[in-house]
Amino acid sequence: MLSPLLCLCRFRVYQSLRPKRTGLFAVKDGQQKKFSSSTSRIICVPHFKQDYLGSSAGFLQTLSNGKGFCIWSQARGLFGRGGGGSRPQQNLEDIARGIKEKEYKKVVVMVGAGISTPSGIPDFRSPGSGLYDNLQQYNLPYAEAIFEINYFHYNPQPFFTLAKELYPGNYQPNLTHYFVRLLYDKGQLLRLYTQNIDGLERIAGIPPSKLVEAHGTFATATCTVCRKEFPGEDLRPKIMAGAIPKCSTCKGVIKPDIVFFGEELPQQFLMYLTDFPVADLLIIMGTSLEVEPFASLAGAVRGSVPRLLINRDPVGPFAHSSLRHNDVAELGDVVSGVQKLVDSLGWTQELQALMAAESEKTSKDREE
Ligand SMILES: [Zn+2]
Repeated sequence: MLSPLLCLCRFRVYQSLRPKRTGLFAVKDGQQKKFSSSTSRIICVPHFKQDYLGSSAGFLQTLSNGKGFCIWSQARGLFGRGGGGSRPQQNLEDIARGIKEKEYKKVVVMVGAGISTPSGIPDFRSPGSGLYDNLQQYNLPYAEAIFEINYFHYNPQPFFTLAKELYPGNYQPNLTHYFVRLLYDKGQLLRLYTQNIDGLERIAGIPPSKLVEAHGTFATATCTVCRKEFPGEDLRPKIMAGAIPKCSTCKGVIKPDIVFFGEELPQQFLMYLTDFPVADLLIIMGTSLEVEPFASLAGAVRGSVPRLLINRDPVGPFAHSSLRHNDVAELGDVVSGVQKLVDSLGWTQELQALMAAESEKTSKDREE
């Protein structure tokens, strides 16, 4: 697990949180490089001085004197551009006004498990109540094995038992999903980046073209042997019966297109390359921003773009002291935070009407 300490436009330095992987990491153009130094406090280097990184992590240690700081932002401060120190700190009302007055037309939203737990979906990572802690019945060698591709090839049953629980249809979207749906209805959603595999974004009516499902989806599936593709719905009867879905052509195991550990992210994820540079507002909701490469996207928007965090705790760039004047954090319960934003927007009734209509549609579908 790498924690992005500070992100610059092309070059990022990370500190590893895992005890066994101490040291600094730099990521450039998707390539990760580990430093031999065990320095733990350095957070930033000028993006144009790549040689510093290549030649000497010790140089950084000397410069920082054991305390992290950003050379590049200090330089910008010195030259009086982009520092932004004298500008007033923005708040939730400012963001709401910008959305309402359509100042923000290309909103990128990033979400994680924290927006699904209010729908009743267990969080994978919370100790005690988390899904990982409830996997003992499967006799897994270790909890994460359920999402490891090599283990899946060896024994797919635990994953499919879990899939039966998580399969789209068992849970309903909540206010956070429908808030994003409203952004879409109003033509202001550029893209929703989700780490969730519960499909609640689709159920809330956000079209797949507006979605980047960074950790995959149950909506489609692929044969692990002949790579034949299947609609996710084709697997539903088998999965719900507790069986392992097999390919009609080659009898291989069909795997829902969930991204396992050891698998590449979906091609769709590369959309961030064109989305983030043009985004005019970034909203981050219900995520610990701990899983890379998703986490560093928070630093991929332009410096002038406001970033709103609605989350239980400060995470990612919001957990550090170097907040931008246009960074806004609404901390505490995620649903309450989104509700507060919706109230500020004057969208409360509209959102209630949308949720009531969708809920009616769902119960009609169930009756049929
Ligand atoms: Zn096949």
